[in-house]
Amino acid sequence: MSVTDQRELQYIGGARQSGSGAPLTITAPATGDEIVTGAGANAADVETAVAAAQAAFPGWAGLTPGARSDLMHEWARVLRTRADEFAAVESENAGKPIRLATEFDVPGTIDNTAFFAGAARHLEGKATGEYSGDHTSSIRREPLGVIGSIAPWNYPLQMAAWKILPAVAAGNTVVLKPSELTPLTSLLFAEAATAAGIPPGVINVLTGTGAEAGQPLVEHPAVAMISFTGSTAVGRRVAATAAGAVKRVHLELGGKAPFVVFDDADPEAAARGAVAGALINAGQDCTAATRAYVQRPLFEEFVGRVAELMDQVRLGPVQDPDTDMGSLISRTHRDRVIGMVERARESGAKIVRGGRIPDHTPDAGAYYEPTLITGADQQSEIVQHEIFGPVLVVLPFDTDDEAITLANDTPYGLAASAWSRSVFRTQRAAREIRSGCVWINDHIPIVSEMPHGGFKASGFGKDMSTYAFEEYTNTKHVMSAITPAPHKPWHDVIFRTN
Ligand code: NAD
Repeated sequence: MSVTDQRELQYIGGARQSGSGAPLTITAPATGDEIVTGAGANAADVETAVAAAQAAFPGWAGLTPGARSDLMHEWARVLRTRADEFAAVESENAGKPIRLATEFDVPGTIDNTAFFAGAARHLEGKATGEYSGDHTSSIRREPLGVIGSIAPWNYPLQMAAWKILPAVAAGNTVVLKPSELTPLTSLLFAEAATAAGIPPGVINVLTGTGAEAGQPLVEHPAVAMISFTGSTAVGRRVAATAAGAVKRVHLELGGKAPFVVFDDADPEAAARGAVAGALINAGQDCTAATRAYVQRPLFEEFVGRVAELMDQVRLGPVQDPDTDMGSLISRTHRDRVIGMVERARESGAKIVRGGRIPDHTPDAGAYYEPTLITGADQQSEIVQHEIFGPVLVVLPFDTDDEAITLANDTPYGLAASAWSRSVFRTQRAAREIRSGCVWINDHIPIVSEMPHGGFKASGFGKDMSTYAFEEYTNTKHVMSAITPAPHKPWHDVIFRTN
């Protein structure tokens, strides 16, 4: 177990510290119990953390890629030894079932850490060469400096990892502001880096609200880039602020993933995929299946089977290994989900399953039943806007053209899936659906080697994979004349002297 004082919610320069801002209480969403209360971060803490990251930058950037890689491999090893502790803290703080934390969040984070430890040694660019004939051109890929990272509450540990790892692998230093609701595993992640020998100041964590800590971090002149994951609304504000300073931004925003089932799909595979894809993390997943479009011949069978499977999903205490679905992040967030479902009901949609607070879970928890909706209008709020709860809306379609049009008919473009036994139909969907990921006959799996990121209002920039690694470097072209001749042939374009 960690020997630090858990009330110290900041991690600056390699040590836990108290913040200078307003008190913050971190609660367990599944029970409503307080976990810890401490002082949040404010602009003064942003100053201290950015200064620590600036001080650490030359040393970290100056290490060889191999030395950074070794330290990051050691970090992955430390994480492996503390995996159970990380899973328990993540489960309690985010209200997610211990099985999900143990089998998805923590191993995914360890794998990501090991992946970026390897990626640190692979700086890619064009071959050095004489492209003009008179000069040697070469590429340098340089870290940017201090990266300000801002993360959401849904997968706190994985989001911290996705933000921090490519940045530090490329030689940058980081100030991460996790969600003020779920900072605990981000703090542990930074502590594990220090335990692995990563120098103090390379990774700093500020626990505070968006207004008190996030905004000053985005505004800070010494922060070279803002890497943001969160809602489209806040992402827009962050981008507008960063634009004032011509600061690089990386935006991973909301999603509204379509799940397209053609009439030659395996109905059982599609129904199971829809339930898993809609209910993972209680639907609080930016790539969650939220709108299933099912070709009319399969529609009734699909809805019936999804309803049966939803009935089997067990809600319960998050520490129980048999619990399938935990609580939402807060009762405030649950109220938002309830509001959307009730407005859908009032506008004539049918609530086939759920649509209510379960009666066997703690009153102070934020549980909500798996919810299945049909009969909603394509232009209605429940189909167009992110719900971020365990709610699946199913709509019918007739032709393949219509399916593609409907799949593309929201402002978002993060992820999608297409279900069919026809390679022509699935390849068409892969080509024509405008989103950063298209799964074929599955929905949700991710791998460290492949990029994750959005199109349209879901943002831009990639997390995971070497594509993410490149987001955190500047490409510099160095062009050297290869002859000492004072008169270069290209001068003739400007002035001829003979
Ligand atoms: P949010 O946008 O409310 O908050 C995200 C982060 O921004 C938090 O740390 C918050 O404190 C901070 N913040 C708020 N106001 C700020 C400001 N003015 N300046 C700087 N920072 C500010 O999102 P959330 O409710 O925490 O998370 C859910 C959202 O995240 C959903 O929309 C979901 O789709 C999205 N998300 C996207 C991805 C992806 O990869 N695209 C992954 C996970 C979550």
